[in-house]
Amino acid sequence: MRPDVLAIVHNHSPSVIPFGVTGVPLRPLYHMSAFLSAGVPVFDIRQASGGMTDMLVRTPALGQALARTLGTRPVALMRGHGAVVVGASLPLVVFRSVYTEVNARLQSQAMALGGQVTYLDPEEARLAEASVSGTAPRPWELWKKKALAR
Ligand SMILES: [Zn+2]
Repeated sequence: MRPDVLAIVHNHSPSVIPFGVTGVPLRPLYHMSAFLSAGVPVFDIRQASGGMTDMLVRTPALGQALARTLGTRPVALMRGHGAVVVGASLPLVVFRSVYTEVNARLQSQAMALGGQVTYLDPEEARLAEASVSGTAPRPWELWKKKALAR
């Protein structure tokens, strides 16, 4: 469904879970997560399957339903489970996974402060993504080094 997708991360990133179960949309509030600007849909496996499941995508039909929910976007949340993150390379999907988690944490903190949260304007997001996405290989080298040291 997505010839542009060459790498996929599935994660159980804790800070994104509340956004998959409350109807509160996850939105980009800083430059590092500008890629979220197209919106972050929520895949509800109960709706997709028409009944109760163990919450895991175990059939091709559920995988296709998840891909339809994702559409052309880079991130979809999975209600009560986690997220799926896609992109053109492994460094990019890891970058997007890390900053989706960070954005979710920051958004929860910003909302808890009680004021009005100012999210990135779509044009700000477009400009920020163009400049920030080129820096994804830098943290990748650090994260790779840390992971391989374990
Ligand atoms: Zn999982």
